[in-house]
Amino acid sequence: MSETLSQILEIVLAPFRHFTNPSDRLSYVYLATALMVAIIVYIVNQAREGRLNAGGLVRWLLPREVLMHPSCQADFAYFFVVRILRAAVYGSVVVSSAAVSAMTVSGLTSLLGPSAPTVEPNIWVSIAVTLTIVLVLDFVLWFMHYVYHVVPFLWDYHKVHHSAEVMTPITAARMHPVEEISNMSVAGVIIGTVYGAFTYFLGPAAIQLTLLEVNIFLAAFFLAAFNLRHSHVWVRYPVWLQHILVCPAQHHIHHSTARHHWDKNMGFIFAFWDWAAGTLYTPKEKEELTYGLGTEEDGGEWHSVRALMFRPFQHSADRIRAHFATRRAR
Ligand SMILES: [Zn+2]
Ligand SMILES: [Zn+2]
Repeated sequence: MSETLSQILEIVLAPFRHFTNPSDRLSYVYLATALMVAIIVYIVNQAREGRLNAGGLVRWLLPREVLMHPSCQADFAYFFVVRILRAAVYGSVVVSSAAVSAMTVSGLTSLLGPSAPTVEPNIWVSIAVTLTIVLVLDFVLWFMHYVYHVVPFLWDYHKVHHSAEVMTPITAARMHPVEEISNMSVAGVIIGTVYGAFTYFLGPAAIQLTLLEVNIFLAAFFLAAFNLRHSHVWVRYPVWLQHILVCPAQHHIHHSTARHHWDKNMGFIFAFWDWAAGTLYTPKEKEELTYGLGTEEDGGEWHSVRALMFRPFQHSADRIRAHFATRRAR
């Protein structure tokens, strides 16, 4: 096969690779554990109501009103278009943590001289390295999410994710490339710097423990039915645990149109960043929620690939025009 043909094939198959790549949050492993938990939720709910109807399980897992909703159909179309675009165009502009890590090591070497680690590799150092990396990564993701909510110019792009009116695990990929590139690059720079510093100071002891090719704590979190955060299945942790780990129900709240839920629960793995910032919301019981932007102006118009891709640019341009118009009027 010619090189060009194999490159084209690589790009066309890119969306499907998310499901087969064990390190991807949408991998079949994490989707399978989410499915298992969803089935348990169904059985528990049915048992509570005093009936067990196995025939209703598939209908409950794949509700027609979700799958046929224009929001869901836009999610699937957008997923394929954006993943192909990422493989073909913008994936290469993301700053890689491996490159930053290598730069950090060479920067420290020229600054402090050759690395002379004295620590022998051992499990405790590995646990400390692994935990530090997951904490730093999670803080960066929380901070970026927070900034995308509070800065109006950035909110124009984050609206893409919040415009979903029904949710399936694919909704996780309903994210504008501007947000995706900035999040991945900032995380790449910071994690690369931290890991580079560990490599310089600890040498061979700078081992990150992994499971399914990712940080073991991140993998454990993904295995704990992570994908139900974008679904209709309500899974709520006890309130005390909701202060430490973000449960699927807390992310449902994040997508709610209710005024008192706005800008709450921006955490990815850990909930204590939100707790510290005063943006934590811990549901005590099941809440009836409506997802989406909830404003008449934005309703419905988002459910096409074109709108999801171009409306944020249009909104930014309107915002810039309005800004200069006000300045001229002064
Ligand atoms: Zn979400
Ligand atoms: Zn958000």
